[in-house]
Formats: sequence, C-alpha cells, structure tokens
Amino acid sequence: MKKIINAAIIENLEIAKNIHRLIVSADIEAHAGQFVQLKLPSNDFTLRRPLGIASIDNGQLKMFYRVVGRGTEFLSTLKAGDEVNLIAPLGNSFNIAASERILLVGGGMGLAPLLFAAIESKSADILMGGRNSEEVNCWKNEFQGKANNIFIATDDGSVGTYGFVTDLLPSVLDSASYDKILVCGPEIMMRKTAQLAKERGIKCQVSLEKRMACGLGACLSCSIDTIHGRRKVCKDGSVFDAEEVFYN
Ligand SMILES: Cc1cc2nc3c(=O)[nH]c(=O)nc-3n(C[C@H](O)[C@H](O)[C@H](O)COP(=O)(O)OP(=O)(O)OC[C@H]3O[C@@H](n4cnc5c(N)ncnc54)[C@H](O)[C@@H]3O)c2cc1C
Repeated sequence: MKKIINAAIIENLEIAKNIHRLIVSADIEAHAGQFVQLKLPSNDFTLRRPLGIASIDNGQLKMFYRVVGRGTEFLSTLKAGDEVNLIAPLGNSFNIAASERILLVGGGMGLAPLLFAAIESKSADILMGGRNSEEVNCWKNEFQGKANNIFIATDDGSVGTYGFVTDLLPSVLDSASYDKILVCGPEIMMRKTAQLAKERGIKCQVSLEKRMACGLGACLSCSIDTIHGRRKVCKDGSVFDAEEVFYN
C-alpha cells in the first residue's frame, strides 16, 4: 500500500563518479519495478524526483541515482541522519514467476530496478552495460550473489565485451533458453532488446522512464501512446509489455 513517509538517510555514498547509493529507513512493502517520489528537504524544490526501488531489506530501502541536475545535486549533499519525504511504492511491477528462467537486461541507472528483480526472481541472469569499468564494477558487486550469471558490456571495453549490451545480447540468448526478458535503460537499448525478444519468441517487459511531475496519475505529463491508447507511465507503468509500447 502506498504511504507518505519521512525517511531518515542511513547511507548516501558515491560509489562511482556521480553515482550514489542511497539507503533510507522506510517501513514499506514493494515489488521490483516500483518506484518512489522523493521530496527534497528544501523549499527550492517543489516537484518530487522519481527513483526506482533497488531493494527493501529489514526496513532499509535502497536506491541508486546519477547526479544529473539541480535536484540530484542537492540530494548528493545530504548526510546520514537527514530526512527525505517519500511517496512509496508507486507504479506497477515486473511480472516475475519463480518457475521462469529470466534474463535481465539493463544499462546505466536502469540497473537499479533490475537489482530488485534479481532478488525477487532468485535465479535470473543479468546482462549489464555501462560507460566504463568503474561504473560497471559497482553494479557487478551489487548483483553478485543475487543473479546467477553476470554478462557485461562497456562503452569503452575496459571490462566485459566492448560495445553495447545489445551487441552481446544475441550470444547470451544463444547460451540458454530464457522464458522472459526484463529490460530497463536507455530507450534505444530497450527497443532493440524488445525487437530481438520478439524475433526469438521470448516474452519481454520494459520499464519506461518519462519525465513526470506528480507520479500519481493526476498531471498526465508522463502520458504515452500504446496499442491500448494513451497510458500514464507513473500509474499504468512504469512496466509495460514490450509490444504494448514498442509497436512502431
Ligand atoms: C519511474 C522512474 C524511475 C527512475 N529511477 C531512477 C533511478 O533509479 N535512478 C536515477 O538516477 N534516475 C532515475 N530516474 C530519473 C530521475 O528521476 C531523474 O534523473 C531526476 O528526477 C533528475 O532530477 P534533477 O533535479 O537532478 O534534474 P533536472 O533535470 O534538474 O530535473 C528537473 C525536473 O525534471 C524531472 N526529471 C528530470 N529528468 C527526469 C527523468 N529522466 N525522468 C523523470 N523525471 C525527470 C525532475 O524530477 C524534476 O522535476 C527515474 C525516472 C522515472 C520516471
């Protein structure tokens, strides 16, 4: 159930250049794919910032964020003991069945909700992409022990395969028989992955990221076209079946 809570920061650590791991104290229940709307403790910020839930363990809610603008810059200055206000959990979640062999495909900050999916699935493989070894090694550490196999591609080839996750994807799909692919990351990566999944007859769900203001379905700023008409990413998503949203 959705709650509005004041959450004390337990950790706000820069784990790679401009990437922070944020752990707060929050007594909520959620599923992989859901997100929070975070209100910064300053009157300079009216709108909340959406962040994906990476895990919940013993009342500790873990998130990751990249510093990209004013809000995340301010967030990066907060210390343990400071409080943020959260509306959580929001949105729907990935469809994860224990019996399914799942491949997670993620790039950049899209790996955050996939970490939660790895934890819920208990037997998923992860294909991850990032800019360089510094960035990807942090994620590798997070997924260690949570995903079965870890496949890596980097933009600069400093670790794993040189290139994009979608360059590596065909060989990963050749190596095992997957029932489902869950994807989160840059749109081009999600589109290409969805296309390949379709060609191979594998179910595919994508988690979309759209600029949103309220996160509650009221402001319509995150509306998108789907085969079922207009849908709101914040409320009807952010997880969609790939063919529902990538149909053209
Ligand atoms: C469902 C969802 C989950 C997300 N999960 C993560 C995550 O786990 N980690 C992470 O690093 N980022 C995530 N993002 C993106 C993150 O919300 C933005 O990077 C962040 O809001 C930028 O805020 P800013 O003030 O630093 O940037 P600014 O560009 O200054 O932001 C100005 C305004 O635009 C909004 N905005 C800016 N970029 C985005 C964006 N990409 N998506 C939605 N709103 C945006 C901000 O919330 C703010 O209201 C997610 C976005 C969505 C929609």
